[in-house]
Amino acid sequence: MKKWNYSFLSFLLFLSCFTIFPSTPKTTYAAPTFQMPFPCDQTWNGETRKKHNPKLAIDFTRKNGHGDPVVASASGKIKKIGDLGNKSFGKFVYIDHGNGWETRHAHLSKITVKKGQLIEIGQQIGNVGNSGNSTASHLHYEQKHNGEVQPIYFGSSKAYYYGKKEYKSNNNCTKKQHTGTVKTENGKK
Ligand SMILES: [Zn+2]
Repeated sequence: MKKWNYSFLSFLLFLSCFTIFPSTPKTTYAAPTFQMPFPCDQTWNGETRKKHNPKLAIDFTRKNGHGDPVVASASGKIKKIGDLGNKSFGKFVYIDHGNGWETRHAHLSKITVKKGQLIEIGQQIGNVGNSGNSTASHLHYEQKHNGEVQPIYFGSSKAYYYGKKEYKSNNNCTKKQHTGTVKTENGKK
């Protein structure tokens, strides 16, 4: 009986340690799982350049890409929209993804969202364009954390620095599978 008491007491002591010194929850500000800012399965040419401003940004182009939809690369809230005319970013959309994460989209031909609007991953925010300081239709895209431009990731793949690469979008592909066409008996879509 006495022996049990001791072990019970030590158990209480053990518990109290956790009460007095609770393990501090580790706060990690992991990035959202960003996907490409284009609908599922689209392929775009992405270019990174050391002389780009900022240099970690990507410029996306594809043949006849002018006017194509630009979509949110993660869920969030529209932080800022604007039109700088033929200067700098031209028509732009910034999305706040929480925990200090932000994406920026520039040179749009059209903005299809409003400031403060909640946005789901894959939802359209505008259209690819040639507005601002731009000589051809392309999307200028950035990922920022606490105001600092970060190396871009899509899923777990880091963008190619520096140079050109083809990128295929996985944006919202799972949802698409749920709502997609049902396979017929002979397996054709
Ligand atoms: Zn750019």
